Amino acid sequence: MVEMRKPIQVREAVRLVMENVHVNRTETIPLERTYGRILAEPIVAKHDVPSFDRSPYDGFAVRAEDTAAASGDNRILFTVIGEIGAGHVADRGIGHREAYRIMTGAPIPDNADAVVMLEQTAEAENSFTVRKRFFQGENISFKGEDAKQGELLIESGAFIHPGTIALLATFGYAKVKVAKRPVAGILSTGTELLEVSDELAPGKIRNSNGPMIAAQLTRMGIGYTSYGMQEDNLDACTEIVKKALAETDLLITTGGVSVGDYDYLPAIYERLGAKVLFNKVAMRPGSVTTVAVLGDKLLFGLSGNPSACFTGFELFTRPAILAMQGAISPYMPRMQGKLGEDFTKPNPFTRFIRAFWEMTPEGIIAVPAGFNKSNAVSSIARGNCLIVLPSGTRGYTAGTDVDILLLGAEQGVGKWVL
Ligand code: AMP
Ligand code: MG
Repeated sequence: MVEMRKPIQVREAVRLVMENVHVNRTETIPLERTYGRILAEPIVAKHDVPSFDRSPYDGFAVRAEDTAAASGDNRILFTVIGEIGAGHVADRGIGHREAYRIMTGAPIPDNADAVVMLEQTAEAENSFTVRKRFFQGENISFKGEDAKQGELLIESGAFIHPGTIALLATFGYAKVKVAKRPVAGILSTGTELLEVSDELAPGKIRNSNGPMIAAQLTRMGIGYTSYGMQEDNLDACTEIVKKALAETDLLITTGGVSVGDYDYLPAIYERLGAKVLFNKVAMRPGSVTTVAVLGDKLLFGLSGNPSACFTGFELFTRPAILAMQGAISPYMPRMQGKLGEDFTKPNPFTRFIRAFWEMTPEGIIAVPAGFNKSNAVSSIARGNCLIVLPSGTRGYTAGTDVDILLLGAEQGVGKWVL
């Protein structure tokens, strides 16, 4: 008799996975190796930025009060007493109608409180005139205007991108505390599977899920151990799953989670004493997606159907891996756009459609990327997003506003689950 499974909503399934995530340890690594990692300490300003008042332009540092009477009919003459290049400091302060020639980034000399841009002057040798009034503070980058000492700038759990690295460098973080990256295991199950390099044989298909998941992990900067392909054999599969669990931080399997005669993953979870969090999700594709926990390890039982496998990884495995690193924004970024073509087939489950989004003169439009069944592989290759169509009794017509999940964006930018 076929076991009846009770579907749970996608959001609930994601919540269950996230509740069972164990945060990995941390490590301290050189700044130049931190791109793509998750911060395990907040960035707090160690000093003001800028740390001194400085000039944002090439020009002349003056006392604003000396320009008070300037106008088109009354040009005021300043004497240039020296030059301050970036990285240098003036020898002395300025006096009445004196000025320093100053370069971008150079510190404002004592007594000066405004910078006149070069193009606002008429220059002569060692002097210049101005024809308008400048106010106190005009054209000055003030100490602390960018960041104040002690200010919390970036939270722990943020994704480290090039801008984050600039900030870390600003404060002298030669070493940075980051989350350790988990190592994933990948196991493809199915007696029908061939190696990529094999010739096709009757009834057989090449393993496309294994390499795809490896690349989904690589895109996240996550390392993996591949346990290859395993025929549908309960004992052999159990052994390899055990071995993989002992050697990795999480295990991703594909295939064998349905209710067919050779779908052994449920039996394997039972044998190992793993707790199944869910084995049916109200989504298409991938309704058979199963997630189990054993100790502090998650086992992702993704469907063998390529589109379902892909979607299951993005919806469940990806945020879990980010959360294992303490990421504060583990979800795919989301936006709204218009459905590019009719999708008339109603569905009682939330549908995730591989699609291609683009900004057009009519706004953001996401067009389904072709053949869109759960066993499709071509539409995964063409898509750059997933359109989310809520469950319901009606289909959707082109032009309907829909949610779009962005694939391949830099990690950890989405704070909101669907
Ligand atoms: P399963 O989830 O094992 O019931 O498999 C569902 C469908 O996906 C079947 O048509 C399988 O042949 C196919 N499939 C299973 N594993 C893979 C794989 N690694 N690569 C490509 N297709 C697969
Ligand atoms: Mg199978």
